[in-house]
Amino acid sequence: MVAVSRACVDAGWISAAHQVGQTGKTVSPKVYLAFGISGAIQHLEGMRGAETIIAVNSDPTAPIFDVADMGIVGDLLVILPMLVEAIEGNHRSN
Ligand SMILES: Cc1cc2nc3c(=O)[nH]c(=O)nc-3n(C[C@H](O)[C@H](O)[C@H](O)COP(=O)(O)OP(=O)(O)OC[C@H]3O[C@@H](n4cnc5c(N)ncnc54)[C@H](O)[C@@H]3O)c2cc1C
Repeated sequence: MVAVSRACVDAGWISAAHQVGQTGKTVSPKVYLAFGISGAIQHLEGMRGAETIIAVNSDPTAPIFDVADMGIVGDLLVILPMLVEAIEGNHRSN
């Protein structure tokens, strides 16, 4: 499901019920996809229990890479559509 950082809630993009972190929810999914998440300690607090953390960030020094099991340095606006296409393509062929 979709979860976000406080930055997204503060921007008014989504309700606070989706916020992960110190003042949000604590989650422990099998896979946590962190797109454009810097890795602030208050956010990590709510998701470091994820089994596998995959991070996409254009900044190679983003702290999220310190906790990620896999990381891609790149633009999420490029990588996210590629991932969606790959998943949908896989569904179609099954
Ligand atoms: C008392 C307190 C409690 C808090 N509680 C929470 C909480 O519960 N949850 C929470 O999340 N935060 C919380 N915060 C806020 C926290 O400190 C951070 O400000 C917040 O987590 C930052 O969110 P972010 O990583 O989405 O945004 P930012 O810090 O703005 O980082 C955005 C990241 O996206 C990357 N990026 C930008 N554009 C692209 C692109 N096109 N492609 C790829 N990468 C890109 C940037 O390199 C950057 O690393 C709290 C703060 C305080 C003081």
